[in-house]
Amino acid sequence: MSDFHPDFLAAAARAQWTGSLPDLWYALKVEAWQQRGRWAHRILPRGALVAVRVLTQGPNLMRRELRIARRGLGTPEGWAEECRVFLAAFQASGWYVAPSPPAADTQESRWIERYAGEVERGKVPCDGCGVPVAHSVLWGTARCESCARNAGRAEAAAIQQQNAP
Ligand SMILES: [Zn+2]
Repeated sequence: MSDFHPDFLAAAARAQWTGSLPDLWYALKVEAWQQRGRWAHRILPRGALVAVRVLTQGPNLMRRELRIARRGLGTPEGWAEECRVFLAAFQASGWYVAPSPPAADTQESRWIERYAGEVERGKVPCDGCGVPVAHSVLWGTARCESCARNAGRAEAAAIQQQNAP
């Protein structure tokens, strides 16, 4: 059975995963939620470790953290490609890159959940005036506070006009 990585064979039966990546993601999310901050993890047949936890303290409270690791050192390009496949399958391609503890004989990468519609504060220009927007979550159009206020007034005036007798 040379198809199986030694780390897969050495893992407890409940930590071995041979199903699909979407099903793995679902299982880990459910477990991570139930485990309140502890890592939920599985080892895949070719030796990758996939783990998820819900952060229970710090600035990223309640966000999920994803960790992908494998023993041994390959090329950075190979590792990046492997991670890309997981991130795409988990719909986590836009998550924030998080620091990993340094390890001598392991490749590891971590990410922190980015909420739907969330952008990096101060990095996205306002559609009205081009000034970077100060808020971190966009619902629809990117607008700075003053353009949003003006748009609100303009919209309110338009509605008043429509309703005028
Ligand atoms: Zn603006």
